[in-house]
Amino acid sequence: TIKTERRKMDKSRAHFREAIKHMPLGVSSNFRYWGDDNTVFVKNGKGARLWDIDGNEYIDYRLGYGPAILGHCNDIVDAAAREAQSVGTVYALGTEKEVTVAKLIKEMMPAAELVRFSNSGTEAVMAALRLARGYTGKDNYVTFEGSYHGLFDASMWTADPEDMKDQTKQPKVIPYGEGIPQLVRQLFWQVPYNDAQRLEEVLKKNHDTIAAVLIEPILGNCCGIPSKPEFIKAVRELCTKYGVLMIVDEVKTGFRVAKGGAQELYGIEADIFTVAKAVANGYPISAIGGKEEILRKYGKGVAHGGTYTAQAMSLAAAEATLTILKDTDALKNIASYGQAMQDGMGKVLTKRGIPHSFTGHQSMSGLFFSAEAPTTYRNWKLSDYTFYDTMAGILIDMGIMCEPDSREPWFISSAHDQKCLEETLGKFEEAVDLTLNE
Ligand code: PMP
Repeated sequence: TIKTERRKMDKSRAHFREAIKHMPLGVSSNFRYWGDDNTVFVKNGKGARLWDIDGNEYIDYRLGYGPAILGHCNDIVDAAAREAQSVGTVYALGTEKEVTVAKLIKEMMPAAELVRFSNSGTEAVMAALRLARGYTGKDNYVTFEGSYHGLFDASMWTADPEDMKDQTKQPKVIPYGEGIPQLVRQLFWQVPYNDAQRLEEVLKKNHDTIAAVLIEPILGNCCGIPSKPEFIKAVRELCTKYGVLMIVDEVKTGFRVAKGGAQELYGIEADIFTVAKAVANGYPISAIGGKEEILRKYGKGVAHGGTYTAQAMSLAAAEATLTILKDTDALKNIASYGQAMQDGMGKVLTKRGIPHSFTGHQSMSGLFFSAEAPTTYRNWKLSDYTFYDTMAGILIDMGIMCEPDSREPWFISSAHDQKCLEETLGKFEEAVDLTLNE
């Protein structure tokens, strides 16, 4: 539970009572509902901070689940978007800026021989999977336990946590909720993360029907579990060996963990990859990149489009954001901040003899209250996150906006500065002690 001893919530609560009359859960994503009394409504953000409608100030470590890589309301990005607005937004025709942004992506991500734009992460991954199917002429695909690739039916499956208590058992694959057709289940295999041997077994037997292996290089939807370098390299080799395309979903990691995303970090190249969140600092745009021969299938039989693809404001914001990320040390500084934050938190916890570990990348890291960080969805699900959940509720009340459960990593932007760091670590120490006394 999120505490509310230190901040006012009157306006958010009153607004919730109004919102629920008009919108299911009072919000536009189920994840934004934090309970009738705890759902926060934002007034505005600037840099690393945001303010809610009650006037509470927070240092934001959620950043809209990652997009605001340069901080909220970046002046340069917003000015570019405003300028684009003055010439109109959609024409159902091409514009010159698409090529400018495509070139920037190509420059930063070598696997991008060609680029196609979409609007969201979901749309990009959905399009990438169709492209892989169109190119290979095969229907099936492989995903990994604990991954999330968007809202579409093919992606909304997970491993049953009930089955995980017995680690020798293969957990049942279940849909994320109702309304997802069981028929889709016949189209994919779900393999434990960081388990190349199991992947090879599946590919060896079924490669004739498998179009693609769809992988998040860092599982960004269960705290930030990274691929082991030897694992992701093995995935690359196995895909090549068995004639299956490797789709690297860099929606969260792209333009965040390195200028060239996780592909640069791990030294691999995807056949097709997707980027979204950090591309335009919060303006909706995503891209599918990959090998020329594959991408040229658009135009040779594979359908893709959309009214809003390459919409002018998002494109202008993308140009501004990517130019900053490419030409400055923003990502290095983000990683240094992340490291300093981990070191500081680590010190506080070590001093109190609390076992802990950090997962993911410094720019999107998870905090664990066990000496060893989980390496699979199964370990993550079985880990004890009561301490984290209690502490996160206290931190939010103190003005440190982290994820209230350990599902999402802590995201850092280039606007997080020394002042944010000191404030965060001071409040973290206080929150840890309060949690110990709970
Ligand atoms: N892929 C990954 C790895 C993601 O983290 C997400 C969103 N969290 C998506 C795809 C879907 O992106 P969107 O929410 O923009 O549709």
